[in-house]
Amino acid sequence: MHKLFYLRIYYFIGLIIGLLSIETKAEIDKFPADADESRQIVLPVRQICMGKPWSNIVWIHLHDDEETSRQVALQKLSDLRQGCLIDLPHGGRREISINTAKVSYSFDPNRIFTVNGRQAALHCRRGDCAFALTQLSLAVEEMLSQYLQQSQLIVALHNNHASGLSVLTYQQRAKMANVVRQVAINPEQNPHDFFLVTMQQAYDFLSQQGFNVVLQNNIEVSDDGSLSVWAGRKQIDYINIEAGIGHNKAQTAMLAAVWMYMQNYHIK
Ligand SMILES: [Zn+2]
Repeated sequence: MHKLFYLRIYYFIGLIIGLLSIETKAEIDKFPADADESRQIVLPVRQICMGKPWSNIVWIHLHDDEETSRQVALQKLSDLRQGCLIDLPHGGRREISINTAKVSYSFDPNRIFTVNGRQAALHCRRGDCAFALTQLSLAVEEMLSQYLQQSQLIVALHNNHASGLSVLTYQQRAKMANVVRQVAINPEQNPHDFFLVTMQQAYDFLSQQGFNVVLQNNIEVSDDGSLSVWAGRKQIDYINIEAGIGHNKAQTAMLAAVWMYMQNYHIK
């Protein structure tokens, strides 16, 4: 009688441990780390291709909570049956968070592309913060060399909120300091739907079609570690398609204009 009771208890405990270990394994599968954490995945980069990749052009989506722009990009690639999108899925949040036994930190994935930018962007909560910065720097350098360094055109896709960024923000900045070279505003367009570009050629092409466009001053722009700052320094043609969240139609039209630009200037 007692023996059977204890057997049942042991069976029950075994079952619980088994379930717990499955749960732990699933967590590890999502975010693998080895013993010394040197191979921890800090930037969960995935490349989604819909046919043949472009050799000199990259489309990129950095903020996981900006779903409109991801869907617009994937739909366009699907229609074109070519090209790739670099995407960073990280739990549907704007920031990426790293939590291990050794260190706990988070950062905005569009503030990490320069040395100063990522030092300012890294919010270290616990543990070896110097290690966190080294780990993040290695991951960024690897991402840049693998996907972005060789590109001639980078097309980034973002969304903003009604109370957030708009072309009017840049108009104000242009008045305050020399960080913006030119701003084109079409009063018929929603101010939240605008392009931020690094090259005069892209500014001219897109503004002539009646879009809101900001031309970054690649020399004077403040170093916030964003991809536009990095691309400006490297003299890479960079176009950020920035649209209000939920503005599918507007962002689709903006991406169609960029596709025309790609065909005119970058696809031989
Ligand atoms: Zn964004």
